[in-house]
Amino acid sequence: MSVVDADARAAIEERAGSRCEYCRLPVRGQIATFPVDHPTPRSSGGLTVLANLALACPHCNGHKWAHTSAPDPASAEVVPLFNPRLDRWEEHFQWSTADRTILEGKTTRGRATVWLLQMNHPNMVDIRRLLVELNLFPP
Ligand SMILES: [Zn+2]
Repeated sequence: MSVVDADARAAIEERAGSRCEYCRLPVRGQIATFPVDHPTPRSSGGLTVLANLALACPHCNGHKWAHTSAPDPASAEVVPLFNPRLDRWEEHFQWSTADRTILEGKTTRGRATVWLLQMNHPNMVDIRRLLVELNLFPP
């Protein structure tokens, strides 16, 4: 059972531009329904309100789980994860100039989130490459 009703889900999906708010995977072309993520997990006191809900693809959602922090692979410093309700995506992530299907963290928070959510898992990169061929990516 979903934690949000159909109206809330539609609002969340529209606000997200119909793409994962972490890796930017578009909803279009995906068979799985994208979960609604709690950036601040319910287990940490996060509420089920629009200000604490984000659209996440099944891959990102499954890896984020109830985590709120992770080590930055560059420094090993444990830092808060990217929070789509508090942080601007463009400040923390960029597509690699060498390979536009590879996501890079620009900040400690961005790098930790890319690492924890395994945003460059070969399966995710393969999906992005297919979406490029369909002109559905980059977003
Ligand atoms: Zn994602």
